[in-house]
Amino acid sequence: MLVKEEKILQTYFGYETFRPGQEETIDHILQMNNTLAVMPTGGGKSLCYQIPGLSLKGTAIIISPLISLMKDQVDALHSLGIPATYINSSLSAGEQQDRLHDIAASRYKFVYVAPERFESMSFINVIKRIPISLVAFDEAHCISQWGHDFRPSYRSIVSNLKKLSNIPVYVALTATATDEVISDIQELLHIANGHVINTGFERENLSFHIVKGKDKPSYIRSFLEEHQEESGIIYTATRKQADALYDQLSKRGVTVAKYHAGLSEIERKEAQAAFIHDEKSVMIATNAFGMGIDKSNVRYVIHYAMPMNIESYYQEAGRAGRDGEPSDCILLFSPQDVQLQKFLIEQSLMEDAAKQNEYRKLQAIINYCHTHGCLTSFILQYFDDITAHDNCGRCSNCVERQEKTDITEEAQMILSCVKRMGERFGVGMTAKVLKGSRDRKIKDFRLDKISTYGILSAYTEKELTEWIHFLIAEQLLATEEGKFPTLRLNHNSVDVLKGNRVVEMYTAPIPTSDDADYHEDLFTALRALRKQIADEKNVPPYVLFSDATLKELSRYFPV
Ligand code: ADP
Ligand code: MG
Ligand code: ZN
Repeated sequence: MLVKEEKILQTYFGYETFRPGQEETIDHILQMNNTLAVMPTGGGKSLCYQIPGLSLKGTAIIISPLISLMKDQVDALHSLGIPATYINSSLSAGEQQDRLHDIAASRYKFVYVAPERFESMSFINVIKRIPISLVAFDEAHCISQWGHDFRPSYRSIVSNLKKLSNIPVYVALTATATDEVISDIQELLHIANGHVINTGFERENLSFHIVKGKDKPSYIRSFLEEHQEESGIIYTATRKQADALYDQLSKRGVTVAKYHAGLSEIERKEAQAAFIHDEKSVMIATNAFGMGIDKSNVRYVIHYAMPMNIESYYQEAGRAGRDGEPSDCILLFSPQDVQLQKFLIEQSLMEDAAKQNEYRKLQAIINYCHTHGCLTSFILQYFDDITAHDNCGRCSNCVERQEKTDITEEAQMILSCVKRMGERFGVGMTAKVLKGSRDRKIKDFRLDKISTYGILSAYTEKELTEWIHFLIAEQLLATEEGKFPTLRLNHNSVDVLKGNRVVEMYTAPIPTSDDADYHEDLFTALRALRKQIADEKNVPPYVLFSDATLKELSRYFPV
């Protein structure tokens, strides 16, 4: 029990008890162990260094890549009567000088700085002379090239800091870290395994949803109609998409704000303020928006298109529900999203190895969009979160989960087709071969000569594509990374082919009452069809199907 620190929690911050992981992290730091805390967004990472910073003698240096957050953090500390300041490029040279002077006089308990500050000798010269309580790396994943937001300047700080002899302890904090990132941070900052606190990533108030095969603009319109009172963010993949959606909604009289890097600084500031102060409840933005924005009552985050990887998805979606209230994270998927992300990777100036890594991460989020398992546990497992369980009971896959259908035979056909095609082709070509398509390319490669050509011709190419993606998502089939990932068998595929493993798919969910209009249309269509058959067969319609049966049938058709 940390008696003194608990007192600080209560008297300074006004909280009764520590949140999971906080006390342990603080304890390690107070014992001068370099420590890494991995906690979800909103988990309370700031207190993990603020309380030791108050408890220990000297000034705490906090390195943060988020300039916009520094001022908020410092303001919050001021309001608690704690001397704190920040230095970054938003200040004039004179202001920076003044603050450096006060830092040199040890006037502050907390100093927030951007990574670039360590390239300045005048700063280094000041901090090497004063008593330091700790150095904290907020958003520590930026240190690692395996992280989704690698900043080389962040990494080089460490070597600069190691030249100083007055730093008693390092603290690293992040919400997003895979095994690779964690061990990278550990190595760089000399953090022992026993000093890594990982509370897991699960945000129990967030419900994840995948929405496929819908017209995105009309989905958004009806969603906004139903959620008028609530605040939310809609992320688009490009500025162009943001502009288009903004125009569409504005034209229809929906009040929305817009934020992307193509707008002027004033426009961005105004949009952000209108959103934060609840003057505009909907923010349409690219991923330029959100870093360092701490709005607690965001009730939903919709991704208008699939983002580039799960790391950024979880971070962006995680901006919902920071107040702990139930919130929704919805990803609108369409196959074109994949093409767009590939294009963006291809266009980027990354080296080949880095591109391969991006393709690998892209494949993971494509799998997320195609899994039939629990979405929450998919994400947690991606982050190697051992606390993951099978069924969150909240995500769209858990909620809409219906009966399982055995598709082992079809899976075997797909897998043998991949094999017959020499494991040299991707999803699209494989679907075409299974379908028995007359595409020129099929003939060119003589794929119409192999025994699996047209073996699943009863299905549409779209269905076959969906199944192949499903097999990949369930790791029953592997992909070779790259711009045009080719399909390969893995050891799971072999099990399926040998008949040692059953493949089950969840049947299309029974649509909810939201789709009432659709059922009505389908019902009418079915009724017309019944009349036509009745006329041809010269029987009264009720001999064929009752209205009740038709209504029931219309519920089971995939939308
Ligand atoms: P993170 O950096 O992990 O995303 P923050 O440090 O910004 O999270 O904290 C999120 C919110 O939780 C803040 O409003 C903070 O004051 C609050 N908080 C932190 N610790 C506690 C606690 N022990 N009890 C109650 N609220 C807390
Ligand atoms: Mg934080
Ligand atoms: Zn679930």
